[in-house]
Amino acid sequence: MARYTGPVCRICRRYGEKLMLKGDKCVSKCTLDKRPSPPGEQKSGRRRKLSDRALQLREKQKARYSYGVLEKQFVAYYEDAVRLPGVTGQNLVRLLELRLDNVVHRMGFADSLKQARQIVRHGHIMLNGRKTDIPSAATKAGDVIGWTATSKKSEYFKFAKENMSSKNTPGWLNVDREQMTGRVVSAPAPGETPASFDPSVIVEYYSR
Ligand code: SF4
Repeated sequence: MARYTGPVCRICRRYGEKLMLKGDKCVSKCTLDKRPSPPGEQKSGRRRKLSDRALQLREKQKARYSYGVLEKQFVAYYEDAVRLPGVTGQNLVRLLELRLDNVVHRMGFADSLKQARQIVRHGHIMLNGRKTDIPSAATKAGDVIGWTATSKKSEYFKFAKENMSSKNTPGWLNVDREQMTGRVVSAPAPGETPASFDPSVIVEYYSR
């Protein structure tokens, strides 16, 4: 399945939920407030009753879109989550949260996941002192995220640093706003991750 490149607000409208796919922009202005109906439907506000299977698929798709992950990659994360000790759904969320692009976004170095991915891809980010341009790189507790020396001179870096005062950092990450570096303190606990989907329902989807 190819990556979705259309308007992301359509995805939120399809699922009837704010998935915050535009990051910080979603807080000030949200399309779903003005147009809550699913794309292609009239403003009746009514939604079809879904089967259990459709509800499971829906949770899986919401998670996939929230982390911008393709189906094949998502299945690989699920399989890794199954192999790990502990609760599979929580393992799955942890693996997704610990992706480098997501960590860069959560640290406040980018306004959205999409922007964070672009920063990583363009080689602005250092992981433990090494330039890393792989958005899906897995981070772990103790890892340090920073910027390359060249990037620190860029206009974007200055802009991002000025913007840091408006960012909230989750407790599992520690950010030095002056130095613009961050450390993964621990893997996120279940209550520390956004709850736009139910991971246990995703496990049911793949368990069939
Ligand atoms: Fe669009 Fe963000 Fe609102 Fe979703 S939450 S509809 S992406 S503005």
